[in-house]
Amino acid sequence: MNLQGKIAVVTGGSRGIGRAISLRLAAMGALVYVNYVSRSAAAEETVALIRAQGGQGEIVAFDVADGAAVQRAFKDIIAAAGSVDILVNNAGITRDGLMARMKEEDWDAVLDTNLKGAFLCAKAASREMMKKKWGRIVNISSVSGFAGNPGQVNYSAAKAGLIGLTKAMAREYASRNITVNAVAPGYIETEMTEQLSSEVQEEIKKDILLASFGKAEDIAAAVAYLVSDDGRYVTGQTLHVNGGMYL
Ligand code: NDP
Repeated sequence: MNLQGKIAVVTGGSRGIGRAISLRLAAMGALVYVNYVSRSAAAEETVALIRAQGGQGEIVAFDVADGAAVQRAFKDIIAAAGSVDILVNNAGITRDGLMARMKEEDWDAVLDTNLKGAFLCAKAASREMMKKKWGRIVNISSVSGFAGNPGQVNYSAAKAGLIGLTKAMAREYASRNITVNAVAPGYIETEMTEQLSSEVQEEIKKDILLASFGKAEDIAAAVAYLVSDDGRYVTGQTLHVNGGMYL
């Protein structure tokens, strides 16, 4: 699985699942642009880890939900690196709360980052991919987008929306040799999930066939397959990486 010479952008690549994806793509030979929005130290640490393993990484700070910022960032990356070949739309946030009490701004924030952000980045990246007639786009969805999760109507809607985006894009871009797929993680050990109490964690584990939470590297492995030559004949699909918690 060789990505020598490929330029990859991983949104939210600075920590959690995004960091594991960035490290994995860099280990496969890609030059990885590690995106973040607020915590620069995490992004610096990720790029340091990439370089320590002999890979190439750069930091790119922008808010995926800000259309002008996304356009500027991709223009700068293409000016510096020559192209964008791989995009992983991984940046995501939660603003949980029961529907009855959910504020409109919590709905908007999650939809803007998790769904509109993916659209904006995919639009900017695919323009370049079309010129080269090669591209790989992977959208990080969630089991919540398939099963629905109480307290997460905003997040579940955004993650389900990513599946529609994935399928429609796959249809539009296949003739340009650009594949578009989704990975839907179950519960993965990151900062996003470590806020859960140990009682809640034990409850969740009862629903997971493999009886444990996944690791960020499990998601990185799925992304690695989809962007590599091994995954070249796969498009418009969702790879569920959830230990069997949703079938
Ligand atoms: P983390 O909270 O650990 O990391 C989120 C990353 O996204 C950070 O790098 C953060 O940057 C970045 N980010 C957030 N908002 C923006 C923005 N507006 N623009 C650019 N970057 C942004 O999340 P996880 O690693 O747990 O999750 C990664 C993805 O996987 C998300 O899409 C999430 O929904 C999905 N997922 C996670 C699961 C899990 O169990 N952890 C399960 C299913 C799906 P900064 O640090 O600067 O804020």
